[in-house]
Amino acid sequence: MQQKIPTVIIIGAGLGGLTLYHALIKNKDKKEFNVKIFERESGPQARWQGYHIGINKFGARSLINCIPSSIALNLPKAMPNPVFNVEYHGFSLTDHTGNLLLRPPTKQVKDVYEVANLSVGSSIIITCRDKLRDVLLENVPVQWGKKCIRYEETDDGVWVLFEDGSKEFCDILVGADGINSPVRKQKLPELQIFDYGSTMVIANVDAPKNLLDRLITKFNGKGIIQSVGLNGETTVTLFRLIPIEKENYKNKNESYYRATIFFEYPSKLDDVEHDKIKVDDNDPASVVDHVKYMIRKLRPECELTNVILELWDLVPKTTSDPSKTYNPIRRRKMQDIDPLSVNTWTSNRITLLGDAAHAMSPVLGLGANNAIEDAEVLSRALLNYSSENYISCIKEYENDMLKRSSADVLKSRFVEIRNTTPVGYIGCFFRNNMLRITNAIMKFFDYNLLDRKD
Ligand SMILES: Cc1cc2nc3c(=O)[nH]c(=O)nc-3n(C[C@H](O)[C@H](O)[C@H](O)COP(=O)(O)OP(=O)(O)OC[C@H]3O[C@@H](n4cnc5c(N)ncnc54)[C@H](O)[C@@H]3O)c2cc1C
Repeated sequence: MQQKIPTVIIIGAGLGGLTLYHALIKNKDKKEFNVKIFERESGPQARWQGYHIGINKFGARSLINCIPSSIALNLPKAMPNPVFNVEYHGFSLTDHTGNLLLRPPTKQVKDVYEVANLSVGSSIIITCRDKLRDVLLENVPVQWGKKCIRYEETDDGVWVLFEDGSKEFCDILVGADGINSPVRKQKLPELQIFDYGSTMVIANVDAPKNLLDRLITKFNGKGIIQSVGLNGETTVTLFRLIPIEKENYKNKNESYYRATIFFEYPSKLDDVEHDKIKVDDNDPASVVDHVKYMIRKLRPECELTNVILELWDLVPKTTSDPSKTYNPIRRRKMQDIDPLSVNTWTSNRITLLGDAAHAMSPVLGLGANNAIEDAEVLSRALLNYSSENYISCIKEYENDMLKRSSADVLKSRFVEIRNTTPVGYIGCFFRNNMLRITNAIMKFFDYNLLDRKD
């Protein structure tokens, strides 16, 4: 008798869910699944998907293994090859005035395939998250406007229930539905989100070359530049040095680059200063004013502060073209989830992938890389799927996912807390010197201490 083709339902068409879809379809000749993917957004451009992310060797490897060659051909749209001798996709950490504290050794790479093939080293390729999502969306029949609200497990499978009143049946349910995952909340209600007590604001800007040149030449950094302050504030700028095309630039002779800017400060300041701050998260102009107020309040007067303020001045406050994905900035809480903080994981037909299981601070750039790796590990484990042994497949995946991602959540948490603890001048002296010593050790051994072993 012919076996029924099992159905896998993926909730969430983010980077993790889409990569899993491709991997399951790519492996079709080895194990066939009927794969369905549901997304709560009304369409691909319904919400801003932007900002730059760093794809490391683990993410690059899994991505290339999971997607078909027709999609891989489009990867340069999201992660253009670094411009030779111009771009350096490294990470630099500076103090509040821009003095270098730490720059992990990074090998210059020519493309994503070279990143994927690295055996040692912490090279990354800076990628536009929104464009990577667009690339991954190709040939994927996402069912849009389908918000999952809960599921019901039966002896034979799982019913997935949607807000619009519809329901779907499957053999395996994968919650790839991000940090606020309703699938996780039902499967593991005791797995709680950890709140750092920090607030972050992220924006994408079109930065003129002369402004980024001031960052690059003065602070000698390219790619990702982060500065840690005295009062719990941090700033990050991520950029590619590939000119972008846009009409209506003020200065036609100037090149413009896409940059992601990020500012983080202690959330309690919003409460203390409540009377002074008239910030409304639905009004981008007020959020920009608020960020600039905090920057001036927390950071010293210096060239780095000036450049940062000028970058925040470039944040668009409105959009004239409603068809374009627009970035209405707002304040967000810095949070993470350590999947091993509870010992109640039971492997069954319902599993989790990506931020749904292990959201992490973006400080080390590991969240998307882990989501993409999850997709590869889960798709490989499902190759052995049968109606009798599906639990062992899920268990095999979860054993790997939990160990790997929990370590990365905790590593990111450690660095995040170190960077955002208000230290004052004396604490700053100790923290910064510790970072300088770490930098010297890494340089001497040509090794990034935070790197994961292969
Ligand atoms: C500023 C910043 C910089 C970052 N930099 C890096 C970096 O350099 N490197 C890196 O690896 N990571 C980085 N990250 C983290 C990375 O973006 C995330 O970890 C990654 O996108 C997670 O992918 P995901 O598919 O698990 O979740 P998501 O991308 O959040 O996708 C979840 C999807 O599920 C959908 N969804 C949610 N609820 C429902 C529902 N009820 N029903 C149906 N659909 C639903 C959502 O709409 C969304 O499309 C960064 C994050 C930030 C904020």
